[in-house]
Amino acid sequence: MATKSLRELYVDELKDLYSAESQLVKALPKMAKAASSEELRQGFEAHLEQTKEQVQRLEEIFELLDESPKGKKCVGMEGLVKEGAEAMEEDFQDTVLDAALIGAAQRVEHYEIAAYGTVCEFATVLGEKDHLSLLEQTLEEEKETDEKLTELAKDINAQANEGQSIENDNEKDISTGKRKTSRRAA
Ligand code: FE
Ligand code: FE
Repeated sequence: MATKSLRELYVDELKDLYSAESQLVKALPKMAKAASSEELRQGFEAHLEQTKEQVQRLEEIFELLDESPKGKKCVGMEGLVKEGAEAMEEDFQDTVLDAALIGAAQRVEHYEIAAYGTVCEFATVLGEKDHLSLLEQTLEEEKETDEKLTELAKDINAQANEGQSIENDNEKDISTGKRKTSRRAA
């Protein structure tokens, strides 16, 4: 007979989020290091600090529950982090890699927005008001981060596309024998 309750599902999902956030604390410094855009790098670093606070909020909830936050691995986040790492291995131009990093980061934020949205609803029906205010703060931060990334993407995607046209100009230069301009200077 099935026995697990909504409260148990709620705790499982919180553990999943604890794992997800902990994985991000390790991944975000690598993404910051890989970013060429100063603004993007600073954005990743700022979200790393936020993410550490989000881990603490989850720890606070587990203290209230008198349970350990450990015991689950978020395979969803593991996959998303792997995809980000794959992008870093590709031979992308600097700004194109930035565009790829933003895409990976936004997948992460959307995943978190979905997960925190779910646990906020669970906390509401379970009457966990103290948890809810903590979870809502994090949900708001994830949404803000996603919006900031969308803003950054506008400039960076345009730059990445310009880099492509400079690359094409360089090819023309080869055919006319003119001196090639540096791709990195773009
Ligand atoms: Fe987070
Ligand atoms: Fe986040």
